[in-house]
Amino acid sequence: MMHRTWVEISLESIAANYHALRRAAGVGVLVAPVVKADAYRHGAVQVARRLEAEGASWLAVSNSAEGVQLRDAGIGARILVMGGFLDCEREALAVFSLTPVIHSLATLRELNRYAVSRSAVLPVHLKIDTGMGRLGSRATCEEMIQSVREASHLRLEGLMTHFASASDFTTSQTSDQISAFEAAHQAFIRAGIVPELVHLSSSAPLAFGLKCAFGTMVRPGLALYGYVSPPAGRAPQLLLQVEPALMWKARILEVKEIDVDMPVGYGARWRTARASRIGVIAAGYADGLPHTLSNRGHVIAGGRIVPLAGAVSMDLSSVDLTDAPEVQAGDAVTLIGKEDDARYDAEDMAREAGIISYAVLCGIGNRVARVYVE
Ligand SMILES: *Cc1c(COP(=O)(O)O)cnc(C)c1O
Repeated sequence: MMHRTWVEISLESIAANYHALRRAAGVGVLVAPVVKADAYRHGAVQVARRLEAEGASWLAVSNSAEGVQLRDAGIGARILVMGGFLDCEREALAVFSLTPVIHSLATLRELNRYAVSRSAVLPVHLKIDTGMGRLGSRATCEEMIQSVREASHLRLEGLMTHFASASDFTTSQTSDQISAFEAAHQAFIRAGIVPELVHLSSSAPLAFGLKCAFGTMVRPGLALYGYVSPPAGRAPQLLLQVEPALMWKARILEVKEIDVDMPVGYGARWRTARASRIGVIAAGYADGLPHTLSNRGHVIAGGRIVPLAGAVSMDLSSVDLTDAPEVQAGDAVTLIGKEDDARYDAEDMAREAGIISYAVLCGIGNRVARVYVE
């Protein structure tokens, strides 16, 4: 089967990354791999199945629909729903045994009323906003403890927070957040509420060995897919060895010879500086190739890094193949991945596009076929 554009995903690499994350977490710390956003476009069901086979007892998603998709596919692991939920999602949480993160005491009370009406006891994790300023409760410890006590039909299984600047070693924000969290955690313990799961860390704290932020569970996403964001400031030594699990390719539809000083593509943003061989590839911004790569991105063609020529358009983009004379129409170029010694990964693309690797991976569109390889 020939595809116009496709990703090749190695579940083997994801499994290896998962085991590297488990080693980094150490004994006694559960790893809850994050498979939200269709496993950062690696395919939530396939990734979740493999992780479950590798021993994962918890998975984390953003919303209830993502959890239901995994249950429908037969995933039996515990599933943490991290991104909040609307009233209309409560039923799905209960019916599909999805474990919600609670972000406010009002939601805690409402979910408790719902649990009472079902005569069920539901496990929940409570998220504290320790300084991120997004989701999470900003109530005082006394208010939180009081509300948890009153919630007769909820079992506080987990206490958690999330860091705003985990890769930034120029600020004290992470250590401030750890202190605020630890103070709250201790207040719960003093009140006789001992949550079994305590979790703060995504990929970055795990990758840089910030053990005081491991708690009893960690929630890595990006590192599972082989990336660690470049840190700012003086980061500790990177302890984690992970490898990208996804390559992205596109076919060359046509190659044409264009004279010197001629325009290429929308807005004539590229002018040939020499007589050029221009290849038109079957991928554009509708496939997730960032438009901001126009005139500045690169791809790998024939084992060499070559420039994108002109605007990335919706369905097509042009590449300068003048220095890759053997590359022909019908061949594939590599948008993310490696050929021989040439390497261009999602981090490289993100840097050139002025975005982050997360957005590159999550932006890979539905039109891009997915192929699983060893
Ligand atoms: C997405 C997410 C993670 C995973 O973050 P990575 O940086 O991809 O490891 C962890 N925790 C929460 C609450 C998240 O939303």
